[in-house]
Amino acid sequence: MIHMAGVGKWYGDYHALRNVSLDVARGERIVICGPSGSGKSTLIRCINGLETHDEGVIRIGEDEVRPDRRVLQRIRARVGMVFQDFNLFPHLTILENCALAPMKVRGLARDAAEALARELLERVRIADQADKYPAQLSGGQQQRTAIARALAMQPEIILFDEPTSALDAEMVKEVLDIMKALATEGITMLCVTHEMGFAREVADRIIFMDAGQIVETGSPHDFFTAPCHERTRAFLSRLL
Ligand code: ATP
Ligand code: MG
Repeated sequence: MIHMAGVGKWYGDYHALRNVSLDVARGERIVICGPSGSGKSTLIRCINGLETHDEGVIRIGEDEVRPDRRVLQRIRARVGMVFQDFNLFPHLTILENCALAPMKVRGLARDAAEALARELLERVRIADQADKYPAQLSGGQQQRTAIARALAMQPEIILFDEPTSALDAEMVKEVLDIMKALATEGITMLCVTHEMGFAREVADRIIFMDAGQIVETGSPHDFFTAPCHERTRAFLSRLL
C-alpha cells in the first residue's frame, strides 16, 4: 500500500530524512514515535506530498508521489491527514468543513456531500455540533471534526500527526477512542504519537525514529519489552 525506499529529505543543508525505507501493507496500523526533531512529521508529510522528498522513491499503491499537480491531487484523495492543530476552515461550519472536499474534489452534489458529512459527524459523535463554527468547539470536538473531514474523502490511508498533543488531558481520550474505533475498521493508518497506551493497544508495528532515520521497528510487545537499540531504550525510559 505504501512503499518507501531510500527516501531522503533536505531542508537547505539539513538532512531531515536519511535513507528511510518502509513498506506498509493495506490495513496495517503503524505508530511512529521518536524525539522532537527526529523527522516524524517530515516522514508522514512526504507520504502525501505535503513535503517533497529529494532522494529515493515513495509509492502509494501504483502511484509514485512526485510534485505534479494531478498526481498530488490523486494522492491526497487516497491519503487523508489529521494535524496536531486541527487546521479546520474557521469561516465554515463543522458540517461545511466536512462537506467541502467531497463537493470540490469528488464532485458530489451539496445534498449528497452534506448527507455524507452528517453520517461522519455521527460516527465521531459530534452530529449535534454540525452548525457551529470551529472556534465554538472544544479542542477535542475540533479534532474529531478534523477526523470526520479526513474520512469524508473516503481515503485508503489516514495519517495522524500528534493528533492529541494540543489537547487538554480530558479530551485526549475522546479522540483516542475515535481513532481506536477507526483502527478496527480496516483503514491503513500511520500515526505519530507519544500515547504509548494507544500504541500498545492498536499498533501492528511501532517505528522509532531518531536523527532522520528509522532506528527500530517492531511489534508493540517487542518494542516495549525488548527494544534492540540503546536510543530506543533511552527514549522509552524517559516516556514510561
Ligand atoms: P516534533 O516531535 O517536534 O514534531 P518531528 O520528529 O516531527 O519533531 P520534523 O518536524 O519532521 O520533526 O523536523 C525534523 C527536522 O527538520 C527538525 O530539525 C526541524 O527543525 C527541521 N525542519 C522541519 N521543517 C523544516 C522546514 N520547513 N525548514 C527547515 N527545517 C525544517
Ligand atoms: Mg512533528
